[in-house]
Amino acid sequence: MFVDSHAHIDGEEFDADRDEVVARARAAGVRAILNVGTGDPHGGNFERAAAVAERYEGVYAAAGVHPHDARLYDDAAERRLLEVLRGSRRMVALGEIGLDYHYDNSPRDVQREVFARQLRLARAEGLPVIIHSREADEDTLEILRAEYEGSASGGVMHCFGGGPSLAEGALALGFCISFAGNVTFKKADALREVAAVVPAERLLVETDCPFLAPVPHRGRRNEPAHVVETARFLAALRGVAHEELGRATSENFARLFGIGLASE
Ligand SMILES: [Zn+2]
Ligand SMILES: [Zn+2]
Repeated sequence: MFVDSHAHIDGEEFDADRDEVVARARAAGVRAILNVGTGDPHGGNFERAAAVAERYEGVYAAAGVHPHDARLYDDAAERRLLEVLRGSRRMVALGEIGLDYHYDNSPRDVQREVFARQLRLARAEGLPVIIHSREADEDTLEILRAEYEGSASGGVMHCFGGGPSLAEGALALGFCISFAGNVTFKKADALREVAAVVPAERLLVETDCPFLAPVPHRGRRNEPAHVVETARFLAALRGVAHEELGRATSENFARLFGIGLASE
């Protein structure tokens, strides 16, 4: 009934109880989880993300060099990324990639170059992309327009936190927009304004766990089962039944990532 379109359950935060976390998600009605591999591209993180997806039914994977790690991107990293993307049938997307001007963990010019380079890679591989953009609305849109316009594979603006013009620009490029638990936070009125008007056929919902637990779990480790809370919140905000929102976001997920989801 629900999908978690963006999670990081391969991380060490889940080493002690990953089986239970996946089981709890299933029990909560979450029938698919997209596990996104990040971190040092030379450090085995992408392989780890793929391995977790191979282990559990209904878990899929993506890999890409996060803007935080853009300074570590080189030809060897790119070869490794391509190998992992091509090496597992559970790998369904390239990402997360993009720009993060909040933390600036890598120099901005390097972030932009690595973002553009991976967009070209995704295009050549025919893979959808998962975009991370924080405090970088204008540059994200400019690079997407330059490098991705016309691609048929599509993508998603994950954990959306930008303004209405980034949302409009991304929608115009054919992207989906995914909301995480921060849309439930008290001070997120501007974000809720965007979340209320994204067309139903472009909407996704995610946890981005272990981060950003939605109300009432805020401040604790987040996990895929909690995507149901965010989905219910979004449904209420948009004035639709949560079953309807669950169905729409599941269908969008299946279409974007080319995944067949058995209906119960
Ligand atoms: Zn992100
Ligand atoms: Zn993430």
